[in-house]
Amino acid sequence: MLKIRDLSKTYANGVQALKGISLDIPTGMFGLLGPNGAGKSTLMRTIATLQDADSGSVHLGDLDVLADKTEARRRLGYLPQEFGVYPKVSAMAMLDHFAILKGVVDGRQRKDLVKALLQQVNLWPVRHRKLGTFSGGMRQRFGIAQALIGQPQLIIVDEPTAGLDPQERNRFLNLLAEVGEQVVVILSTHIVEDVTDLCPRMAIIAQGELRLTGEPREAIASLDGRVWKKSVDKAALDEHLAAYTVLSTRLVGGQPVIHVLSDGNPGDGFAAVPPDLEDVYFGELRRAAAGDAAVAKAA
Ligand code: ADP
Repeated sequence: MLKIRDLSKTYANGVQALKGISLDIPTGMFGLLGPNGAGKSTLMRTIATLQDADSGSVHLGDLDVLADKTEARRRLGYLPQEFGVYPKVSAMAMLDHFAILKGVVDGRQRKDLVKALLQQVNLWPVRHRKLGTFSGGMRQRFGIAQALIGQPQLIIVDEPTAGLDPQERNRFLNLLAEVGEQVVVILSTHIVEDVTDLCPRMAIIAQGELRLTGEPREAIASLDGRVWKKSVDKAALDEHLAAYTVLSTRLVGGQPVIHVLSDGNPGDGFAAVPPDLEDVYFGELRRAAAGDAAVAKAA
């Protein structure tokens, strides 16, 4: 279990990236959802001991992560947003190199480990190919293989599906789900479906603040009977945005379809629609933008 308490960070330019974040993250896949600039990377990098917070604490079980960085790094696997690799090195040679860096010095043991990891992430057949020839999805799966070296108890994955095509994304998420059965995996993303598809627990952060944490299905259930949809003409869209609490606007066949939040039936051609995680997310972002207090529930 990962316990984050009162984590705050203000950058030198005055941006308050984290404003007292407290969060409990149990074993399994945990989705950290927030728009660009919300503070996700700052939080991930802080937990990964790559940058310091101004105040607050992070504990992984008994381990004080921010105080004992060396031990924390031994127990942690990290897949950063931009995972740089040497393009001219083969997947197998590169993973072998990472394993040495992580302290797997026994040659035979390392060989077995590299093979097992490449098989796990489905890159064994292409192990001799240069990393520079890999697709985005293959590179991300390689990134998971290197993050798994040393049997980490905590795996941090920052925006891993950005830029992947749907098939690669599915493959990658399935792989993460398998990994997430045994350890804490934090998946940071701005893509709601990543969380819907994969995460039994989640948090939403916006503007450096925790907005909500818990189970996606509970958060969705809290909107039961309160979300309504309507297909509107483009010309009438502004009028609707002004008149209703609009959660989202999606184009369906080129025509805007809006979801609005309302305790009762708004009439005016609206129909009830079962809420989903996008409604929860956009509703929370809207409340954050309006300056409403967060109603974050303890995990
Ligand atoms: P996210 O990962 O959710 O997009 P970030 O943690 O990258 O959010 O950024 C949070 C805020 O902090 C943003 O306003 C961003 O511009 C700012 N920020 C991030 N890194 C730095 C930095 N090194 N120096 C100054 N401001 C930063």
